[in-house]
Amino acid sequence: MSPIDHTSGAHVDFSAPSPLDPQSFAARHIGPDAPGIAAILQAQDQADLDALADAVVPAAIRSGALQLPAPVSEVAALAELRALAAKNTPMVQMIGLGYHDTLVPGVIKRNILENPAWYTAYTPYQPEISQGRLEALLNFQTAVSDLTGLDVANASMLDEATAAAEAMTLIRRTARSKSARFVVDADTLPQTVAVIRTRAEPLGIDVVVADLAGGELPVGDFFGLLLSYPGASGAVVDHAELIAEAHRREAKVAVATDLLALTLLRAPGEIGADVAVGSSQRFGVPLGFGGPHAGFMAVRADIQRQLPGRLVGVSHDSHGNPAYRLALQTREQHIRREKATSNICTAQVLLAVMASMYAVYHGPEGLRRIAERVHGRARTLAGRLAAAGVEVEHDGFFDTVRLHVPGRAAEIVGAARDLGVNLWRDGADHVQVSVSEATTDEHLDAVAGAFGASGAGDGAAFGGLPEAAARTSEFLTHPVFHEYRSETAMLRYLRRLSDKDLALDRTMIPLGSCTMKLNATAEMEAVTWPEFAGLHPYAPVSDAAGLLELVGQLEEWLVEITGYAAVSLQPNAGSQGELAGLLAIRGYHASRGDEHRTVCLIPASAHGTNAASAVMAGMRVVVVGTDTGGNIDMDDLRAKVAVHADSLAAIMVTYPSTHGVFEDTITELSEVVHAAGGQVYVDGANLNALVGVARPGAFGGDVSHLNLHKTFCIPHGGGGPGVGPVAVAEHLRPFLPSHPLAGSAAAAGRDAELGADRPEFGSIGAVSAAPWGSASILPISWAYIRMMGGDGLRRATLTAIASANYIARRLDEHFPVLYTDARGFVAHECILDLRPITAATGVSVDDVAKRLADYGFHAPTMSFPVAGTLMVEPTESEDLREINRFCDAMIAIKGEIDKVGAGVWPATDNPLRGAPHTAEELAGDWEHPYTRAEAVFPAGVLPSSKYFPPVGRIDGAFGDRNLVCSCPPIEAFA
Ligand SMILES: *Cc1c(COP(=O)(O)O)cnc(C)c1O
Repeated sequence: MSPIDHTSGAHVDFSAPSPLDPQSFAARHIGPDAPGIAAILQAQDQADLDALADAVVPAAIRSGALQLPAPVSEVAALAELRALAAKNTPMVQMIGLGYHDTLVPGVIKRNILENPAWYTAYTPYQPEISQGRLEALLNFQTAVSDLTGLDVANASMLDEATAAAEAMTLIRRTARSKSARFVVDADTLPQTVAVIRTRAEPLGIDVVVADLAGGELPVGDFFGLLLSYPGASGAVVDHAELIAEAHRREAKVAVATDLLALTLLRAPGEIGADVAVGSSQRFGVPLGFGGPHAGFMAVRADIQRQLPGRLVGVSHDSHGNPAYRLALQTREQHIRREKATSNICTAQVLLAVMASMYAVYHGPEGLRRIAERVHGRARTLAGRLAAAGVEVEHDGFFDTVRLHVPGRAAEIVGAARDLGVNLWRDGADHVQVSVSEATTDEHLDAVAGAFGASGAGDGAAFGGLPEAAARTSEFLTHPVFHEYRSETAMLRYLRRLSDKDLALDRTMIPLGSCTMKLNATAEMEAVTWPEFAGLHPYAPVSDAAGLLELVGQLEEWLVEITGYAAVSLQPNAGSQGELAGLLAIRGYHASRGDEHRTVCLIPASAHGTNAASAVMAGMRVVVVGTDTGGNIDMDDLRAKVAVHADSLAAIMVTYPSTHGVFEDTITELSEVVHAAGGQVYVDGANLNALVGVARPGAFGGDVSHLNLHKTFCIPHGGGGPGVGPVAVAEHLRPFLPSHPLAGSAAAAGRDAELGADRPEFGSIGAVSAAPWGSASILPISWAYIRMMGGDGLRRATLTAIASANYIARRLDEHFPVLYTDARGFVAHECILDLRPITAATGVSVDDVAKRLADYGFHAPTMSFPVAGTLMVEPTESEDLREINRFCDAMIAIKGEIDKVGAGVWPATDNPLRGAPHTAEELAGDWEHPYTRAEAVFPAGVLPSSKYFPPVGRIDGAFGDRNLVCSCPPIEAFA
């Protein structure tokens, strides 16, 4: 590792950046060049970035230089990543347990996973500029709903285990039984059982893991049941009778299942299930040491309005054409603060898009052929082993063969490893072999050899699917699953969809709180390298030596950046980091006999996930008010702390605040809460204003989550993936997430003392399916920090703050900036108040957001944290030209608003109300009081590079009344 970087910001040479120059990456990541930064600073009367830091960041919280390795060039960082990758051993993976090798079609890998048009897109809250990814997600929902035989599927869950846990709480809300017991089939993936236990405990749900193989349900009441189909052991059992019995006992039933198996198996909906969950990983998404992958959930129509997560639905636009948008929620409907039913926000959109395109590309026949080949190979293997005298435990299975090998399991698994194959060992006597799409005859030979059954290549196939479980119904009948079989057709379909969308590869996305910064190509490159992409999460840790070294370094750097003592990278979104952090607080209080500390103070302006996470952690939310300046009302805080002193668990604050201001009361706030025995949770979503400038762990925080998909350059993927590490002070270290199978697998097996050599694992249980969550995208954040160095990160932070203040100053006279600090500064984002404009002219935030699409921009964050406002965050990555282009567009829009206000255009018919305008509007009749040119080529928009939104303004309410969440028939588009 290189020496520590102590250089200060003043001496960077921007004149000759070369990819070999250690300073060059920071100069490219940071958008404004030296003259640009000078102009930005001059506009706010600051001499340099250090002066700005003095003016904006409260002195009490400022930190010294980051002790990080000196930055390296892009070339050097990639060489280091290559060296780390070389320490990994991607074996032939036949472990199974929810993770299967898959053949990622090249056209999907390159044109989605490696294509910024897809991976740099934002969550489709602005549907008119998101029709491409919304269509892809609708395909995903249609595929899941068809295969599971259930009415409605959502647009992804974080993983299979959290989907199962959400199924448990969904069932609890909707089942008739008022029991607190939830029964889980013992033949369920261990990680799923672990996450269910973590989620159940704070909610007072009693999880009963029961062996249901005999077809008997436990005695006594229970509100719900989770079955696995196929089971973790590979067994396929017809569950129809058990489900009927559970229904007779007023419980609802969720089934954890496998989409590939369902091409051959009777659908869960057809055997009576109310909910189906699982992972779509084996539909063309790399293993990646456990993630990211798209989990799924599908439900019957009677509970569709209770579905957590995002749901894409069909509605129509202002011209009556079908159009897609997120249904039942402008923002997440299920994150209704303390009435929340789930905290999921960022999901797994990019991976759901990949899985959907795998289904589109293969179609129903292709998927069935893949499934038959997998199943056939599993039967052949079982036959060969049986012929050699090995006891095959189940004769009903799809892809996983479980062998009873008394006392020989370790020896067999070791022999397979010597032949390059990872198998699963369950105790001393059992081995499981899981066949995938990538399994070849040579792999089967190696496995047979490991069992001492080599040569017996001709044993009759053994076992199969129970007859009662055979699928007879059709699936994927929609034309979209039949029209793109050639690579040419597929390539063009992907291009056609991505061309409909505005992502970071076309425009700045100035979304406050979401930090849409550069996702540099050099950061992205390692993600698809087979040495990272091909690792099974339960492979022996030695297989992942290089990736775990990278994990260790990243944890160390995040500890240095945040000022905390330890970091867990397991949570796979900010929401899950919040839950993990609050569970750590809960565990800490419980360890001191303070179980009664359950009150969580949350400011009125907090992000919805905060309150939702608190409820999920078994806490009671008490809201703290804000004063007229937007700051936390310290008098109210002191009063609430006094009232709840005995039961105070924590306060959750975002810093800088969601109002985009550095509040100078943060240290005092921490003291007040600590004095009453509470813990301080600092929501780290706004860490982009703090890195290298202040450390939450040093200014009063006990725990924070970070969003690596905001501050640390993991792309947003159109709404996921994410990584939400939880960082804690020393006293909370024992309460970090753990995992039942961390660092185990083939060499160690299920009975080993798991994760004992990994000090980052604590005691609150698992919050994600995989031990290191979305491990395969961690090289992105690693590369960012490695190439920026401490000083580069600090300059990035201060540039982001400088640019936000520049925008605030330029736009204030047109759209008043709602909150600033006492000296008139904002932090890294600013809230533009449109409420007076709306009151005076009728022009709403919606109108401005849609009109920005006509100008080729993605809208800022709408109505969060204050209704009727826009929150703008430029980040450090936008150069001055783009920032000015945005300001110019906003000022031109203000000119249009003024014309509405002056009566030049009527309030009901003007370019804002009519926005966005489509290419279709260039032809045919035109009956508006403004011209076509004013509509589609407003100031600054060049006809030669014009982006046309593919649909006009979408009517969301219509779609919510008439909920349609799978692909509409093709005639609808006639
Ligand atoms: C983005 C955000 C979250 C939630 O993070 P996800 O990764 O979407 O789950 C929480 N709090 C704030 C302030 C945020 O901006």
